Amino acid sequence: MAKIQAIRGMNDVLPTQTPAWQYLEQVMRDLLAAYAYQEIRFPVVEQTQLFKRSIGEVTDIVEKEMYTFEDRNGDSLSLRPEGTACCVRAAEQHGLLYNQTQKLWYMGPMYRHERPQKGRYRQFYQMGVEAFGMSGIDIEAEMLMLSRDLWQRLGIADVLILEINNLGNPEDRKRYGETLKEYLLDHREALDEDSQRRLEKNVLRILDSKSPQTQEILKQAPQLPDHISADSAAGFQQLLEILTQAGIPYQVNNSLVRGLDYYNGVVFEWTTDKLGAQSAVCSGGRYDGLSKQLGGTATPGVGFALGMERMILLLEELGRLPVGISRTVDLYICVIGEGVRQQALILAGEIRRKIPALRVLTHCGGGKYNSQLKKAFASGAQCALILEGEAAQTEIKLRVLDDSGETSTVAVESVFDSLSGLFDLEQFD
Ligand code: ATP
Ligand code: MG
Repeated sequence: MAKIQAIRGMNDVLPTQTPAWQYLEQVMRDLLAAYAYQEIRFPVVEQTQLFKRSIGEVTDIVEKEMYTFEDRNGDSLSLRPEGTACCVRAAEQHGLLYNQTQKLWYMGPMYRHERPQKGRYRQFYQMGVEAFGMSGIDIEAEMLMLSRDLWQRLGIADVLILEINNLGNPEDRKRYGETLKEYLLDHREALDEDSQRRLEKNVLRILDSKSPQTQEILKQAPQLPDHISADSAAGFQQLLEILTQAGIPYQVNNSLVRGLDYYNGVVFEWTTDKLGAQSAVCSGGRYDGLSKQLGGTATPGVGFALGMERMILLLEELGRLPVGISRTVDLYICVIGEGVRQQALILAGEIRRKIPALRVLTHCGGGKYNSQLKKAFASGAQCALILEGEAAQTEIKLRVLDDSGETSTVAVESVFDSLSGLFDLEQFD
């Protein structure tokens, strides 16, 4: 029978790779805690309508990329292609948006039926941040500072560039959309196919069309900044000033629109030239109309999401993963002979109770002295306790796992003293 394989574009994360993931997740959790953001979790499956109404019907995600299916009741459900719509749905449903502000984050898998390639998968992980109930530009500034702090903590700030744009308030966006559409209708036949389709429902998206001919036509088009109202433009200027003050370099890119329909105001994207075609690592913006669009009360919202696989690729490619994260064992217990099996397991338990953070691997499954010692070395542990014999022992060997081969014999009762001599126990507090 043919072996069953994973679904194309959906990755297993193997034990050799999980330390990098755990490291990234830990740095993120610590940073989000430092900004006093709270975690929210929501389901992987939602009603298809949620995404159609938020992301927009004429977007790549909804038109081509969603995993949509009927469940046994005949309801149309979709695997979530992103988290913002889910987060707004959950927050609204549980009254978190009523007369209060929220600073939230989430982490988890998203699903898009795209062509798999390096940095682009059908199941991929995002960490996202969403803030509700705040209409000033201070929250945008804070989020950009948060993202920049993350790059700094990860040691990748030097390879990421911030592109930023202002889509204006919702009326500006609507007015500009109409003006742009009027202009583009005169050039309809010359536009690429996608852009022709977008003319009706998502005209702003044409601005970041990849087609050179469409870009040529856009050169003469009415420009977005000329259609932004004074208050929105002033807010954007203030934001740029804060970025400068905070030492965050940026590039204003008036073609940056983002592929989701719900944005207004500030939109941004962090990109890198180190990942080939998959250059976007983190993107977001303001979406004040979204909760109302989903049937809730109008609530200002700002958020971003970052692609965790792309982060890890970047960390690996640049060699910026800290050394030592792959080490998962501190102490290796060799068990030579069935006579010491029970003693070894009990002793390991005692050590773990005394030093809870010490990572103790008990060798299970038997094997000769040399092969167990080899495994102890390969595990990366700092030292090995060696129990050997036909019956429980009063003395055991303690071997430092470096080139010195330093080995001592210790009484079972004084194992802890010897271990505290070897390990810097404060690090395990
Ligand atoms: P792209 O332009 O690369 O398709 P996007 O604009 O569709 O990205 P968003 O919807 O803004 O991406 O998602 C936020 C982040 O999630 C992206 O910046 C990227 O890092 C990551 N991401 C998006 N799609 C994928 C995917 N299919 N595989 C891996 N990561 C992805
Ligand atoms: Mg995409």
